[in-house]
Amino acid sequence: MSQFWTPLVQRLTPYIPGEQRSGENIVKLNTNENPYPPPRSVLAAISNVNGDALRRYPDPESKDLRASLAQYHGLKANQVMVGNGSDEILALAFMAFFSDDAGLQYPQISYSFYPVYCDLIGIQKKPIPLDANFEIELSSYAGDAGIAIPNPNAPTGIAIPLESVAKLCAKASDKVVLIDEAYIDFGAQSAIELIKNNPNLLVVQTFSKGRSLAGMRIGVAYGNEQLIEGLNRVKNSFNSYPLDVVAQAAAIASMADEASFQSSVSQVIATRTQTVTSLEQRGFKVLPSSANFVFASPVNVKSKAGAEDIFNFLSQQGVLVRYWNKSLLKDWLRISIGTNTEMDRFFSVLDSMT
Ligand code: PMP
Repeated sequence: MSQFWTPLVQRLTPYIPGEQRSGENIVKLNTNENPYPPPRSVLAAISNVNGDALRRYPDPESKDLRASLAQYHGLKANQVMVGNGSDEILALAFMAFFSDDAGLQYPQISYSFYPVYCDLIGIQKKPIPLDANFEIELSSYAGDAGIAIPNPNAPTGIAIPLESVAKLCAKASDKVVLIDEAYIDFGAQSAIELIKNNPNLLVVQTFSKGRSLAGMRIGVAYGNEQLIEGLNRVKNSFNSYPLDVVAQAAAIASMADEASFQSSVSQVIATRTQTVTSLEQRGFKVLPSSANFVFASPVNVKSKAGAEDIFNFLSQQGVLVRYWNKSLLKDWLRISIGTNTEMDRFFSVLDSMT
């Protein structure tokens, strides 16, 4: 606490990112990174960025990247905006669309950055409980306030179908419905195709998960032209150059290498299937995941250990997963899907717990 902090800063409870411990024998399954590096084509594009390009400011509008994203999804370039990770896009969207008197509805168990942005921006928080199966209860969302929902949800990994997104957009037709598709590449259905009929729908995606570029910080928003223009008004009142030259080059190369993208995503999905089976065999309850992580509870494990004990034991052995000591989450672990070798190590450490 400092006398120089404004009352707003004094009140903030900032988001705490997962631990970025590094070292030879660390197995990092705690921040939902892709276990496979980006393809050679992307690394080549990064090394081809020369001194002259770095001397200059980047294209403030990321025109080439936006053109490639628009083409990929059958949209116009003015229906696409990019930012410094989807975290930045979310913050800009919250400022642009949710800072009115109506507040923001979002799942009570969800991405824990949402309430942090609300407090920073001064948005009334309206968390909506999940049902007993950790599923999003669509009927609980009112039509008279903004809505932000991750699809699939985090940390549960459970997806909602496209018809549900369409229904929400129709119900809250005077408000923005933001679908946060950070984990969309691992099996759920994107709502991008609903944009043409729903001027209030904003879809947010990231290059951090399916495209293995968390270190580059590249996020994307897709929506109707007016929504994107609104986002750009906020962006250009905050930071003209959110994406640096290297990130733009990497993202363009990533979009051009569909085969590598598909192959790494398929491998993660295959490992997820095996991981679920192995967890269930050991007495874990596992929620149905469409993401690159699973949410699992040790309801009937041999050691009788609870989630927190398992989290601590794994951490001491250099295997990092995510645990929240909060009432609704305290019996659960979120485990990112690693390589097959990493998952073998995870299970061997788990099995060594007595
Ligand atoms: N949304 C959700 C649901 C997430 O879990 C994350 C990753 N922590 C993000 C958005 C942000 O991803 P990034 O800023 O890396 O694009």
